[in-house]
Amino acid sequence: MRLAAAWLRSARRILIFTGAGISAESGIPTFRDGGGFWNRFAPEEFAKYSGLKRVALREPARLAEFISCLVEPIAKATPSPGHRAIADMERHRDVTVVTQNIDELHQEAGSTLVREIHGSLFDIRSSTGRFLARVTREELLDTCAKLRRAMTGPMKLVRFMLAVRRIVGLSGMSLYRPDIVLFGERLREPEWTLARKDATQCDLLLVVGTSGMVWPAAELPDIAHDAGAKVIEVDPSPGVTHALHLQGGAGEVLPALVAAAFSMPDAS
Ligand code: NAD
Repeated sequence: MRLAAAWLRSARRILIFTGAGISAESGIPTFRDGGGFWNRFAPEEFAKYSGLKRVALREPARLAEFISCLVEPIAKATPSPGHRAIADMERHRDVTVVTQNIDELHQEAGSTLVREIHGSLFDIRSSTGRFLARVTREELLDTCAKLRRAMTGPMKLVRFMLAVRRIVGLSGMSLYRPDIVLFGERLREPEWTLARKDATQCDLLLVVGTSGMVWPAAELPDIAHDAGAKVIEVDPSPGVTHALHLQGGAGEVLPALVAAAFSMPDAS
């Protein structure tokens, strides 16, 4: 912790790369930990757009369950002490956040430069990429409540489509849906190109709560390391090579790290 704090203090440009683990303490389950999402919903079916379409036609109630399990915790969440500690770093250094999360909790905690490389659940776009609308947390919760009611009666597919129409549906000939990156889709641009550039230009990369199993996002630590940056990882199960590991939950480790790095007057 002392070494990590010294690295943070001596860095001028800090890049923070986060995954689902930073939001675990906000009540949003990660995808791969015990009891994680992909144990309940097979990724080959539920993480791809083609699979989701198949499930909608065959088992709308199962898709409704999937959407509720994904959307409801995000709609109810508020920032954790880990998100707030990251936002707090901006008082001391130039900080850019690159997140794989779709929950907008970094922005809500006060981080001002956040690159959402996997998109956001709150932006609705057409399949041609046209931005259509923003939804609020309350509207997402309302959609989940409608979905639950819809799955109790007959004509489930029709009732399903009516329940989700605020976030998914057809507009003219084009489909609209939340602007989130599913398996096999390209990362959001220009965010991904900018994130790779950030990784080559930062002095310090702080990786928080990512298993490093989702590509190409998982390349960022190697890009930063190869360009000469120091790398710190905060995770109960660290996995990034070339990193100084701080083992533990983000909500415990990050506030302690920021306090250790910046509670003393800056000598420089
Ligand atoms: P992952 O589920 O593959 O891995 C989660 C990581 O978080 C693990 O390494 C785990 O040890 C760690 N972790 C668990 N609790 C933690 C805590 N309290 N503090 C710090 N770390 C903790 O997640 P991933 O690598 O981000 O990949 C999953 C993909 O799914 C991402 O692309 C992301 O877009 C998406 N996702 C997003 C959300 C969200 O928006 N909150 C939630 C789940 C998944």
